[in-house]
Amino acid sequence: MKYLDCHNHTAEWSDGRQSIEQVIEKAKLEGVRVGLSDHAGLGDYLNSNDRLLAYADFLTQYPVARGLEMDLGRSFVVQPQTREKFDYMIGSVHGMEVDGVRLSFTQLISWTRGDLPTYNPLLQIKSLDVFFKAHLALLEKEYAAQKFDILGHPTMLPPLALGKPEDIFPEWWEDQFLAILIKNGVALEISNRWKTPYDRLMQKGVAAGVKFSVGSDGHDTAKTCVLDYPKEMMKKFGVGPERLFDITRSIEAA
Ligand SMILES: [Zn+2]
Ligand SMILES: [Zn+2]
Repeated sequence: MKYLDCHNHTAEWSDGRQSIEQVIEKAKLEGVRVGLSDHAGLGDYLNSNDRLLAYADFLTQYPVARGLEMDLGRSFVVQPQTREKFDYMIGSVHGMEVDGVRLSFTQLISWTRGDLPTYNPLLQIKSLDVFFKAHLALLEKEYAAQKFDILGHPTMLPPLALGKPEDIFPEWWEDQFLAILIKNGVALEISNRWKTPYDRLMQKGVAAGVKFSVGSDGHDTAKTCVLDYPKEMMKKFGVGPERLFDITRSIEAA
């Protein structure tokens, strides 16, 4: 079985630095099947059903899985006639409103790149408890509004910058978080780009029976379709390919 890397971006439709042809070429090299999932949401180019339909039409010309990555918290409802053109919908959190204030994850991303070593999310997040509750409430609200298949880079959240995730992310949050995913049939993405989830969450997810998905979150040809971290985590926690999100149609060119 070839892995399905569900999470990739193009320059044509969002913030990738690669064409779809380059993504397909790299997928061949890495021996994986590939899905495209450009950013959609009120702050993105793909901010309407009409544009999503154009994107789906574009993807239809290629041997790829057709996905999208909706910006949770700045989402819009995808109409059934649009949704049916896609194989799946990822939802990811890229910023959050906490106590009425929008918290952007831009600084967190700079920190993960090593560009902002002094980043302290506690200057913005007054209380971790309030933050984690707001995170769960956001997921519940989005999942009540429409069906999502995958939660992208699940722990790419500002508290990551505070230390070892096992010391920072509370166990009550982990348990409620996994219950929400299971209740809504949402797969937990193992992200190569963000190296998430961390060990304890992965272990709990396996025990709880959550589904997984693998994604490179590739924005450039160097990292696209590289699945080293997901493969390592699957091996470490005994996750077989049958627990991975997949699509039913064949996408390989004849
Ligand atoms: Zn994302
Ligand atoms: Zn992405």
